[in-house]
Amino acid sequence: ERAPSRPPVPGAGVTVLAGPTAVGKGTVSAYIREHYPQAWLSVSATTRAARPGEEDGVHYYFTTPEEFDGLVERDEMLEWAVVHGAHRYGTRRDRVMDAVAAGRHVLLEIDLQGARQVRRTLPEATFVFLAPPSWEELVARLVGRGTEGPAEQRRRLETARLELAAEPEFDAVVVNDTVERAAAELVRLMGLDPASGVPA
Ligand code: 5GP
Repeated sequence: ERAPSRPPVPGAGVTVLAGPTAVGKGTVSAYIREHYPQAWLSVSATTRAARPGEEDGVHYYFTTPEEFDGLVERDEMLEWAVVHGAHRYGTRRDRVMDAVAAGRHVLLEIDLQGARQVRRTLPEATFVFLAPPSWEELVARLVGRGTEGPAEQRRRLETARLELAAEPEFDAVVVNDTVERAAAELVRLMGLDPASGVPA
């Protein structure tokens, strides 16, 4: 059976992954980066500092606020947002469009504000919401990873409540019960064969 060719509409070949804080978007993306080399993961620009183990150009492009201003002023961002009231994060349009033109299956892991911007500019993209198995599980994951203090945890959980209400805006919902299963479902939605993953 021949794979259907992609229609030439803006956004075809692009999958947007959004979901509340601590749901595991980063973990699922990292799993896909490792196991599905056919997928092309967009690397975001951010004004936040690198955490231990994060590499410039791999996890993010770490930029100064001035560099970020320049990207926005030159209209080089497909989308960008202030996330968790602190730092700016954004997706470079040219890199994504080059990857799409090269026939790659592109994945953008961004927040809800960014997903809504992409919905306007690339309406034919596939929008996937990564959901926690339950609210209690989401709270447990946020508290368990211990990267935020109590005040920041409360702030993120408030945002998470609002973000969970946005689920119906998405084309598909993937429950992050186990990373392997969620990643397989996501790559299928991206148009890849889940069985094509390489073992670790
Ligand atoms: P972290 O600082 O933990 O790496 O990411 C914080 C949040 O920023 C996550 O919810 C992530 O989805 C979001 N984020 C990362 N890159 C982008 C981006 O390019 N655009 C938008 N809008 N959000 C992003």
